[in-house]
Amino acid sequence: MAVFSAPGFDKHEHVAFRFDQETGLKAIIAVHNTNLGPAVGGCRMWAYDNDALALEDALRLSRGMTYKSALANLPFGGGKAVIIGESRQDKSDDLLRAMGLFVDRLDGLYVVAEDVGTTVQDMDVIAEVTDHVACTSEGSGNPSPYTALGVFEGVRAAVRHKLRANAELEGVHVAVQGLGQVGFALAQQLHDAGATLTVADISADAVTMAADELGATPADPDSIHTTKADVFAPCALGGILNDRTIPQLQVPIVAGAANNQLAEDRHGAALAARDILYAPDYAINAGGIIEIAHIGEQDDENTRDHVRTIHDTLINLFRRADAERLPTNVIADMMAQERFLAA
Ligand code: NAD
Repeated sequence: MAVFSAPGFDKHEHVAFRFDQETGLKAIIAVHNTNLGPAVGGCRMWAYDNDALALEDALRLSRGMTYKSALANLPFGGGKAVIIGESRQDKSDDLLRAMGLFVDRLDGLYVVAEDVGTTVQDMDVIAEVTDHVACTSEGSGNPSPYTALGVFEGVRAAVRHKLRANAELEGVHVAVQGLGQVGFALAQQLHDAGATLTVADISADAVTMAADELGATPADPDSIHTTKADVFAPCALGGILNDRTIPQLQVPIVAGAANNQLAEDRHGAALAARDILYAPDYAINAGGIIEIAHIGEQDDENTRDHVRTIHDTLINLFRRADAERLPTNVIADMMAQERFLAA
């Protein structure tokens, strides 16, 4: 399996592989860049079809974390871990402790957090064997409320920049795709701010709850992105902005929580060509990683104020994109690189 010539390899500082005989743990930790601080990032557990796909995920996601933390001005580098396995069947406390020992071997180069397939409780188990862990129940906990707050601020910034300078969200129509931990909390905040909601989820219960509690209009999960609205907020899947969906969008703004929303980088230019303002995913969904920077602090309002800076970060990014006539995702990459490469 290629590493240095793998598609996702981008000058990664350190890539470590671990097999543990006793528990069957098969895991990879990728550390992309530590110029700004220790590499912080989630540990994903997923039944990858083959090892190359697991490596690719670790490489791509760890690079993304470098950019996310740099753009949010945090003292963190970028890293990510993957455990190869089906989380519902293969996860055990012994396996998690073996993962914790793997993290510990890197001696603080990488700090592990929860991700798809791992939970705050899993981080508590990992914390039994290493200090290099965030998102434990005594640490930062579940990041989703902070991510949702940051996305809400990002939607406000996009609406102010594109639609109504100095206005709030009263009467703004937002189509939310995915009513999970982040999407539902976002929908609640938008509702409280007077926005009108159209929502979709593959879980009928979540949609019913949003309709009952927030007066949201249900839409088909396959066509929510075609809703005529002010904002499309992808909060479910990656790759949702692609050759098929971009021509179908009927919104001036895309701003949501999902990671890797652009199927390919060129889709940022495709959105700009349609005069659709795109809030780059890793800029708008940084609330959870910002919270990790405040572990141990008593004053939650301080953390929330820091998360709210996502509003101004995005306003600056949008203005620069206008001035330099470049897609917002390109500007986000430039701003992040200016920080971590200069450090
Ligand atoms: P989640 O698993 O709680 O919610 C995802 C929701 O999307 C679920 O309710 C699921 O039923 C729904 N869904 C799945 N496929 C769908 C489809 N085809 N159409 C409509 N709905 C669909 O996840 P989450 O924690 O809310 O995260 C949402 C997104 O935000 C993910 O892309 C995640 O990577 C990203 N993100 C989350 C955080 C965080 O703090 N949780 C931080 C950064 C980024």
